Amino acid sequence: MITRLSTMFLRTLREDPADAEVPSHKLLVRAGYVRRAAPGVYTWLPLGLKVLRKVETVVREEMNAMGGQELSFPALLPREPYETTNRWNEYGAELFRLQDRRGVDMLLGPTHEEMFTSVVKDLYSSYKDFPVTLYQIQTKYRDEARPRAGVLRGREFIMKDSYSFDMSDAGLEESYQRHRAAYQRIFDRLGLEYVICAATSGAMGGSASEEFLAVSETGEDTFVRSTEGEYAANVEAVVTQPGVERPIEGQPDAVVHETPDSETIETLVNWANDAGVTVEGRAVMAADTLKCIVVKVTEAGAEPELTGVLVPGDREVDMKRLEASLEPATVELASEEDFAKSDFLVKGYVGPVGLAKNGVRVLADPRVVSGTSWITGADEKNRHVVGLVTGRDFTPDGFIEAAEVKEGDPAPEGLGTLTLARGIEIGHIFQLGRKYTEAFDVQILDENGKRAVPTMGSYGVGVSRLVAALAEQYHDEKGLNWPIEVAPFPVHVVIANKDEIAREAAEKLAADLDAAGIEVLIDDRPKVSPGVKFKDAELLGMPLAAILGRSFSDGVIELRQRGGETLEVPAAEIVERIIALVRN
Ligand code: ATP
Ligand code: MG
Repeated sequence: MITRLSTMFLRTLREDPADAEVPSHKLLVRAGYVRRAAPGVYTWLPLGLKVLRKVETVVREEMNAMGGQELSFPALLPREPYETTNRWNEYGAELFRLQDRRGVDMLLGPTHEEMFTSVVKDLYSSYKDFPVTLYQIQTKYRDEARPRAGVLRGREFIMKDSYSFDMSDAGLEESYQRHRAAYQRIFDRLGLEYVICAATSGAMGGSASEEFLAVSETGEDTFVRSTEGEYAANVEAVVTQPGVERPIEGQPDAVVHETPDSETIETLVNWANDAGVTVEGRAVMAADTLKCIVVKVTEAGAEPELTGVLVPGDREVDMKRLEASLEPATVELASEEDFAKSDFLVKGYVGPVGLAKNGVRVLADPRVVSGTSWITGADEKNRHVVGLVTGRDFTPDGFIEAAEVKEGDPAPEGLGTLTLARGIEIGHIFQLGRKYTEAFDVQILDENGKRAVPTMGSYGVGVSRLVAALAEQYHDEKGLNWPIEVAPFPVHVVIANKDEIAREAAEKLAADLDAAGIEVLIDDRPKVSPGVKFKDAELLGMPLAAILGRSFSDGVIELRQRGGETLEVPAAEIVERIIALVRN
């Protein structure tokens, strides 16, 4: 079929949408691929839907090839299964909950572990039926706190989710590796630049877990790579090398000092150096101070609980790392009100001793080990304490990964240092284990006629997000620039010559390409100038544009490769040349 711009349902926009910050969002709206229906909820217009369907096709083909079987669950789900796993509560505000006309609770599925586990329990009972991998490509709902960047982070979005069921841990490992390989094929075929990162498994529980991140400045995830070796990890999953323990014996006593107006780490370090305080004979640095941040942690269904988080003073607390460490509990900084409510919380002078004395849980960075000595708040206005020794003057209730990871930090296993970059999470695979099969009491008869619980893997691809991730990686200042595999049309034929002969030749070219099985978009708009047509062609971003313009009278068709060279092709060779480029 040939698609005509003269009749296609499309309006391109000259202006960026007011709410758009990242290039993919601006361009997908301006080029008429998607349109906002509500915050985080988008309509797919004809061009956008074509890209989405092509991405879906790649995902489906590779999932089928790796042995997955497709099915489709509803998005509208009953409460009970999510009650069984406690996610009805744990999911918190992100879960869309609703009631039917009888007042029965329902939800819009954010992910479907519960449904897959139940259906396997219902239908299978013998080890002979395993392993099995099931998947769907389906609409998910999450009331995201910060929907962002159009379809990149929607409240309604399309995910491929699959689940493997195995009778043994070795089987799970194999299913996991097969998914990993399938994901590599999917993202390779789509032409994405991506990194496979070690990940935390978050609300899902479970152990081994990796994320696929499309490399992009505008991504919300930060990942690290080591300068030597293969190590790559989401910053949320970076494990801090513990500090070196020191003997406590012989360390000088902690001394409280007057430190007027030293509420920041910088002013505190300046005070210490002006006051002649030294650490092992050298000047005091930010890393010798201990930052004490007060947060509120809320477990599902419980009241918020004050918690102190200790990190070396040369680092900020990274809220995303802190959140990941505490999931499924949620966390926020203590407010002015919280400070006002508790006399012992003195802004700028909070220390671990005062917190512990008042029954507040204190969690420390892994560098805060026994025998380390710190300059920190003395819990009174204008006072700090020097020489506060861990394990002698205070003892944290536990350790926590909350400090920011910095460029140049040591990589694990001595593999050089870490470099930081940003990415968009496009896929996530993890070994879930028996959390869900146990919750649903899935009992399968094994080879010896004994009951056994199968182990699961859970694997997601952000299908609609991939459209945005591709647009992030494939665009320039003029517009989109799709890889052939996902372009709505590989070829855009532009009639840019008033001559009737040019029009006829363009129609024939489109018909010939169509006959060869190549999808064609033809710009046959009668009263639109060549300049506007060229601009639109660049904005829409088909990989090849065949221009029948001025040089057509000399028998030449211009073949513009979006973002690349322009070839002058004799009219007689154009079909052949295009076919070769599309099928290469
Ligand atoms: P994120 O950290 O980006 O919120 P997640 O950890 O919540 O992602 P998963 O629950 O693992 O994501 O979902 C699987 C995949 O679905 C993700 O890798 C991502 O590609 C996609 N995805 C998740 N949330 C959204 C969303 N709000 N909009 C679009 N795609 C999403
Ligand atoms: Mg999320």
